[in-house]
Amino acid sequence: MFSKILIANRGEIAVRIIKTCRRMGIATVVVYSEADADSLAVSMADEAVFIGPSPANQSYLVADKIIAACHETGAQAVHPGFGFLSENAGFARRCAEAGVVFIGPNPDAIDAMGDKIQSKLFAARAGISIVPGHIGEIDDAAHAVRIAEEIGYPVMIKASAGGGGKGIRVAWARQDVEEGFPAVRAEAKGAFGDDRIFIEKFIVDPRHIEIQVLGDKHGHVIHLFERECSIQRRNQKVIEEAPSPLLDAETRAAMGAQAVALAKAVNYDSAGTVEFVAAQDKSFYFLEMNTRLQVEHPVTELITGVDLVEQMIRVAAGERLTFDQSDLAIDGWAIESRIYAEDPYRKFLPSIGRLSRYLTPAEGDRGGYRVRNDTGVREGDEISTFYDPMIAKLCAWAPDRPGAIAGMARALEDLHIEGPGHNTPFLAAVMDQPRYGSGQLSTNYIKDEFPDGFSGLPPQPWQSDVILASAVAMHRVLAARALGAGGDLSPKVKRNTWVVVAEGRRRDVEVTENGSVLAIALPTEGRILRLDEIDWRPGAPLFSGQLDGRDFTATVAPAAEGFTIRFHAVRQRVLVLTPMSADLHQRLPPKAPPDTSRLVVSPMPGLVVSMDVAEGEEVKEGQVICVIEAMKMQNIIRAERDGRIESLGAKAGDSVAADDVLARFA
Ligand code: ADP
Ligand code: ADP
Ligand code: MG
Repeated sequence: MFSKILIANRGEIAVRIIKTCRRMGIATVVVYSEADADSLAVSMADEAVFIGPSPANQSYLVADKIIAACHETGAQAVHPGFGFLSENAGFARRCAEAGVVFIGPNPDAIDAMGDKIQSKLFAARAGISIVPGHIGEIDDAAHAVRIAEEIGYPVMIKASAGGGGKGIRVAWARQDVEEGFPAVRAEAKGAFGDDRIFIEKFIVDPRHIEIQVLGDKHGHVIHLFERECSIQRRNQKVIEEAPSPLLDAETRAAMGAQAVALAKAVNYDSAGTVEFVAAQDKSFYFLEMNTRLQVEHPVTELITGVDLVEQMIRVAAGERLTFDQSDLAIDGWAIESRIYAEDPYRKFLPSIGRLSRYLTPAEGDRGGYRVRNDTGVREGDEISTFYDPMIAKLCAWAPDRPGAIAGMARALEDLHIEGPGHNTPFLAAVMDQPRYGSGQLSTNYIKDEFPDGFSGLPPQPWQSDVILASAVAMHRVLAARALGAGGDLSPKVKRNTWVVVAEGRRRDVEVTENGSVLAIALPTEGRILRLDEIDWRPGAPLFSGQLDGRDFTATVAPAAEGFTIRFHAVRQRVLVLTPMSADLHQRLPPKAPPDTSRLVVSPMPGLVVSMDVAEGEEVKEGQVICVIEAMKMQNIIRAERDGRIESLGAKAGDSVAADDVLARFA
C-alpha cells in the first residue's frame, strides 16, 4: 500500500479523499492555487504544495506541476478527484512514465470512453443498448438536417468531447438543427477544443440513471447498483438518489449487467460510472461512461457501505477486490443535494462572496436518518469565481425513501448560509413536493414544476404553524428580556394574548407557559399547538424546537415588530402584536411599497464590465443597459421597459453588490 498520496484537486473532493487516506494511515499532499492558499483542504492535508495562479489552466490543469509536486514530496500516487485532470489519458500516461501511480483506470480505458462518439461505437459492439442515432461525425448543417430527419424529431445535437452539460442542444424541428448545429459546434470548439458533433434521438421526458462500476487489475468487475440523477437544471445534476424509484430488480440487474459488460470490454480497473438515459417505460439506453469518481458517489457509499475512494486506492495499488457481486446489497435509501452558491429567487444567477455565516447539520446518526455533508469550505471562506460554485453536497440516508426525503428536509433546515445566495430554499421546495415524493421523476422536473422560475412555495398548514410558533416563542424571549428577566425563558408574564400577522393573515393566539412547554391556543381554530425543546437565543439565525412532537428548525431574523422567518421554501414577514396594536394596524391605510419600477438594479454582486447607456438616453425595452461579470460569466442587464435614463448608478469598472442601483428611469 502507498504511504503517501498526492491529491490533484481542491474543495470538497480533496477534503473527502483526505478523510479516507487518514483512515487508511496514508499521508496526504494537496496542491493548491493562489485562491486556495487558506482552504480547508490545505489545512487538513499533511503537506501542501503551491502550484500557481488561480485560473485552473495555470495550476490544477498543469500536469508538469502536479508531477513535479509528487517528486518533490515523495508521493507515490496521485488521486485526481473529478473534473481537472481526472479523465485525461495523457496525464495518466505521464504519471506512469514518471513512476507515479494514477489512482484511476488505465489510460486506454479513459481513451476508449473519453469521447462520446467512440464510446458509443464501442458500446454498440459490446452489445449495449445505445440511443438510436447517427453515431459518427457530421460535416455541416445540411448534413445535420438530413440525419435529424432520418432519425426523426426530436433529436439531440451533441459535442463528442462534451461534458458537464455543455455542448448539448435539443432540436424539435428543422430550424432548430439549422441554428443549433453551428451553435453547438462553436461551443464545443471553445469549451473543449474539439468540434466533432453527432446527433441522436432525444428521449422525451427521460430519466437519468447511472450504474456505479468498480474493477480491479485482475479482471474482476462488479457494479454497486444505480443512482438516479433526474433532477437537473440545464443538464446539470442538482439532486441525486440511490437507488432509483423507477427500477425493479429485473431492470436493475439488466442495467448492471450491461454496465459490467462495457467495463470488462475496456479492461476497466477502477471506480467508474456508466450513464444511461431511461424512458418512463423502463427502456434504457447508454449515454456515456465517466472514467472517474463521480460527484454524486456518496449516495452509493451510503446504501452499500463501500468507501469508493478506498477501493480506488486499493485497486490502484494492485490489490484484488475482496468482495463479489453477491456480497453486495442495497441497504436503505440515500439522497444528495448539491448546495450551490446561486440565487434561486433570481433565476439561479451565480452569487459569489464570503461565507459570513455557515452552520451545517451535525453529521452521523440523527435518530431515524443519517446525515453526511461533504464540504470544502468553512465559515469565513470565500466562494471563489475561479471554480465550481458548489458549497457542499448534503446527503441524508434512511431505511426507506420517505425517511430519506424527510431526513433531507430536516438536514436542509439545519443548514444556514449567509453571504452568497444559495439554493437551499429551492432544494427544500423539491423535498416538499408531492411529485418528488411519488418518485415521478424526469429530467424535465424543474422545468415542469417551476415553469416561471422559483419564488418559494405557499405554506402547508403545518409550516404556517411552525412559523407562528417560532415567532411567538421568540417574541416571548425578547419581551422577557425587555422586562429585565435577563433573556431566560421564565418571563414574569405566564400568560399572554397576541395577534400574529403573517403575510396579511391574522391569527389570534393565547400562550400559556407550562414548565419548558409553550401551549399556543388558537381559539378561532379550536386548536392548541404544543411547542417544546426550544433552542434559540436572541441574535441566533436558527430557531429549533419541537411542534406537536415534530422537530424543526427555522431560519429567523428580527424585523420591525416581528421577524422574517424562512421555513423550507416559505419566507414570511411575521408581526407579533398586542390585540390593541393589531387593531390599530388594521385601521392604518396599507403602506404603498416603494416604487422600484423606475430602477434597474444589479441582480447579483459583480463587476460592471460596460455601461451601455448614457444619462438622458432614450432606451427601448430589451436594450442592453450594462454587462456585469460574476462567476466568470457575463450577464447582460436589459431594460424592462421603454423610457429615458435619468441617471446612472454605476460605471464600467465599478464593483456592485446585489440590489445596487445601476440606472434610474425618468
Ligand atoms: P457528474 O456526472 O459526476 O455529476 P459532471 O458532469 O457534473 O459530473 O462533472 C463533474 C465535474 O467535472 C464538474 O466539476 C464539471 O465542471 C467537471 N467537468 C466535467 N466534464 C468536464 C469537461 N469536459 N471539461 C471540464 N470540466 C468538466
Ligand atoms: P455530459 O457529458 O454533459 O454529462 P450527457 O451525454 O451525459 O452529457 O448528457 C447530459 C444530460 O442530458 C443527461 O443527464 C440527460 O439528462 C440529458 N440527455 C443526454 N442525452 C439525452 C437523450 N438522448 N435524450 C434525452 N436526454 C438526454
Ligand atoms: Mg453525463
